[in-house]
Amino acid sequence: MRTQVGIVGAGPAGLMLAHLLHRSGIESVVIEARSRRYVQERVRAGVLEQGTVDLMTATGVGERLKREGLVHRGIELRFARRSHRIDLSELTGGAAITIYGQNEVIKDLTDARIAAGAPIYFESEGVTVHGFDGAEPAIRFTSGGAKHEVRCDFIAGCDGFHGVCRPSIPAGALTIYERVYPFAWLGILAAVAPSSDELIYSRHERGFALHSMRSPELTRLYLQCAPDGKLDDWPDERIWGELDRRFEIDGGWTLRRGPITQKGITEMRSFVAEPMQCGRMFLAGDAAHIVPPTGAKGLNLAIADVRVLARALAEFFSSGDRVMLDGYSQTCLRRVWKVQRFSWWMTSILHRLDGENAFDARRQMAELDYVTGSRAAAQSLAENYVGLPMES
Ligand SMILES: Cc1cc2nc3c(=O)[nH]c(=O)nc-3n(C[C@H](O)[C@H](O)[C@H](O)COP(=O)(O)OP(=O)(O)OC[C@H]3O[C@@H](n4cnc5c(N)ncnc54)[C@H](O)[C@@H]3O)c2cc1C
Repeated sequence: MRTQVGIVGAGPAGLMLAHLLHRSGIESVVIEARSRRYVQERVRAGVLEQGTVDLMTATGVGERLKREGLVHRGIELRFARRSHRIDLSELTGGAAITIYGQNEVIKDLTDARIAAGAPIYFESEGVTVHGFDGAEPAIRFTSGGAKHEVRCDFIAGCDGFHGVCRPSIPAGALTIYERVYPFAWLGILAAVAPSSDELIYSRHERGFALHSMRSPELTRLYLQCAPDGKLDDWPDERIWGELDRRFEIDGGWTLRRGPITQKGITEMRSFVAEPMQCGRMFLAGDAAHIVPPTGAKGLNLAIADVRVLARALAEFFSSGDRVMLDGYSQTCLRRVWKVQRFSWWMTSILHRLDGENAFDARRQMAELDYVTGSRAAAQSLAENYVGLPMES
């Protein structure tokens, strides 16, 4: 098989890249390790920045999003038993976030890919990447019992944090910047209507909690837990009891309970691999960087990367000009590091640190008090939360 761009991974980065390239008349082949069903049912992120929504809408995959997405114009911060609203739209000149599950984004992009009759291989085994330091890279894999080789002009490594592309880059060509946090998130999906119209970020002395949602019938809740926490330690009753305590405010507030349909523990990490390219291979999304989920940025950052990459590839294939491609990493990293900063900051003001001293606890409260009391500080949070301009 010969194509222009071989894409490893059918997550948000890989599928959006394939979609954007198709619209520019550039051929690609998408190679995914998991089944279509698995990828479409994987519950992960659910907050779309304004720029992600605008891109999906402008490129013809935003119809269901417009119908079913829940537009939120604010978020709530809770601390010291009080609730404070950050009015995102008022502080950003009208921008908003939209609640729409990552799995729904995946469904829309997969449907677009299949409707276009463009190649996508699910359940690919033994995926390896070759020759990206030369003129003719290749991707090899097995699918349906048959061995395949895709020869291409460029490889896009969109295979997430545990994929094969980044580790295939020779040792020494990448610099890794990393911070692992001393806590994790226990996340549940509950078949019950959300208890609030907006997301609630709660800082409590027992630890952080987040109330989010995926639809009018599905609530997504998170609890800060120990990094080595086990699901067996968290029977349903303990989870609900802990959530009740962490969301408590003066005047009362009730968290609706319902059957828990999914549970998982996610480690918290900040990670950047620089540069995001090596020869004819480009890394995008979680393959190149990870953010702690507190800022709701992982998916949005993946989309921002491939927007830059799609433009650079379109420029190259139409004119032969490599300037944008050569500058891909540098262009993306400027935004990546600002998003890293924001995600780290949100994490650091909202989580309980084991062994934190009284000074740090007071400083955290002062930060929250400042953010909710100063328009300038609230505006900074809001403009980052709805999403910095793409390519800034
Ligand atoms: C468990 C979990 C929970 C998360 N929860 C949240 C959340 O609540 N809020 C939030 O904002 N963000 C969350 N995130 C982050 C967000 O989901 C990611 O940032 C986003 O999925 C990045 O998209 P991506 O396309 O770069 O990578 P991915 O979505 O990881 O996609 C990579 C794809 O590559 C495939 N792949 C991997 N290896 C290979 C291979 N060798 N060959 C072929 N294909 C391969 C994978 O199966 C996958 O489909 C979560 C992430 C994880 C892992």
